[in-house]
Amino acid sequence: MEKAIEKLCGVLGSDAVRLEEPMKAHTSFRIGGPAELFLTPENAAQLAEAIRILRRHEIPVFILGNGSNLLVRDKGIRGAVVQLSGRMSALETDGTALYAEGGALLSAAAAKAAEAGLTGLEFASGIPGIIGGAVMMNAGAYGGEMKDVVEDTPLRTMMSGKAAKEDLIHQAFTYPHFLVGAPGSPALTDSNGNPWCASYVSATADLTVDLRSNMAGECRAKIGYENLIPLTDDPLVKETLIFLMTREVTHYQQFEAALETIQPNFPPAVFQTSPKYSNLYFNMSQGEDARGPWNQGKSTGLHEEWQYIEDPLKRVRETDGLLHVEPQGTQRTEESVRKADEKLAKERSNELLAATPKQNIQWNKKKKK
Ligand SMILES: Cc1cc2nc3c(=O)[nH]c(=O)nc-3n(C[C@H](O)[C@H](O)[C@H](O)COP(=O)(O)OP(=O)(O)OC[C@H]3O[C@@H](n4cnc5c(N)ncnc54)[C@H](O)[C@@H]3O)c2cc1C
Repeated sequence: MEKAIEKLCGVLGSDAVRLEEPMKAHTSFRIGGPAELFLTPENAAQLAEAIRILRRHEIPVFILGNGSNLLVRDKGIRGAVVQLSGRMSALETDGTALYAEGGALLSAAAAKAAEAGLTGLEFASGIPGIIGGAVMMNAGAYGGEMKDVVEDTPLRTMMSGKAAKEDLIHQAFTYPHFLVGAPGSPALTDSNGNPWCASYVSATADLTVDLRSNMAGECRAKIGYENLIPLTDDPLVKETLIFLMTREVTHYQQFEAALETIQPNFPPAVFQTSPKYSNLYFNMSQGEDARGPWNQGKSTGLHEEWQYIEDPLKRVRETDGLLHVEPQGTQRTEESVRKADEKLAKERSNELLAATPKQNIQWNKKKKK
C-alpha cells in the first residue's frame, strides 16, 4: 500500500490523496466510516493513471459520484474510493448535443441543456447525482431515463466491438481535435499561452515519419487519379489526369530515395524497440490460421525471426502478463538497445545542434551557472 500511495501522490499530488477519509462527509445521508484511501483526480488522464496504479497493486477501487445513492457501513470502505464529483465537470454544447464530463452535476447539465434550447434532460434537473453516477444507475424521473438521452460515452464506444474501439483509437491518433475535445483533456497552449493549434500535434520532429507519410499520401493520390481516368472520354482531360497520376509516382520515388539517405531509418525516431516483444506474433485467429512473411521467417525491418505464439492466453499467463519474457530469435538485447538509444540520441542531438544558428537566440539561451 505504501508504494502505491507514493506513486499516487506523484501522479495526483499529495493533496489529492487522503487516508482514512470519513465517507459520511461524502454521502447524502451523512453516514459511513472511513475510506482507506480517498483520491480526487483532476482529469481523465490522472484518473486513468490512478486506476492503473491501484490495479497494479491489487487495491480495490470504488468510484464515488455525488454519494446520493450510497449507504456506507460504519466500518468504512477497504481500498480506494475515487471521487469524481466537484471536478471533471465540464459541460459544452454545439447547439445540437450536450457534451458532459462524468463529474458534472446532473442538475447543472439539465440547466445547460435548457439554456442551449436542447430538450430531453428536463426530467433530470432534480436528481442529486453526477453524470457518471446517473449513467451508471440509469437515473430517471417523470417518465424520462438516462438511457433515452445518452447518445454516446467513450466507454460504450470501447465496448461496442472491435471496429468501434479501433475507430476511437484511430480518432485519437489522426483527428487532432480529439485531444482537446475529449472529456477531461488538457487545455493545450504553446509556451506563450496561445491556444492550441493542430500543427503542435502533427509535428513528429522526425523526418523519416514525414517522408513515409508523404509516400502514403502519394499512393492515395495516385489511386484517386486512376479512379478518375475512366470517367472521361475527353483526350485532353485524360492526358492531364495521366500527367498528375504519373507525377504522384515520381514524387513517391523521390521521397523514398530521400528516406534511404537517412540511416538508420527504422524504427523511426530515436528509441529502439524492446527485443522482448518486437518479433512476437500472437495467433488471435478464431478461424483458419494463416502463415506468411508477417508471422514466419525474418521480419522485414529488424530482420528478427518471428516467434509464432499459438496460444496467446497461455503465454500471457505463463509470463505474468508478458512481464517476464526472454528475447528470442533476435541478436538484440535490452543492453544493446540501451546502448543504441544512447548512441542515436547523441547523433541526432549533434545533427540538431549543427543545424541550429550559432548566434544568441533569446528563447534557448542557456543560463550560466
Ligand atoms: C433526495 C434524493 C432524490 C433522488 N431522486 C432520484 C430520482 O428522482 N431518480 C433517480 O433515478 N434517482 C434518484 N435518487 C438517487 C440518486 O440520486 C441517483 O441514483 C443518482 O444517479 C446517483 O448518482 P451519484 O452521482 O450520486 O452516484 P453515487 O451515489 O455516488 O454512486 C452510485 C453508483 O454509481 C457508481 N458511479 C458513480 N459515478 C460513477 C462513474 N463516474 N463511473 C462509474 N460508476 C460510477 C458508484 O460506484 C455507485 O455504484 C435520489 C437520491 C436522493 C438522495
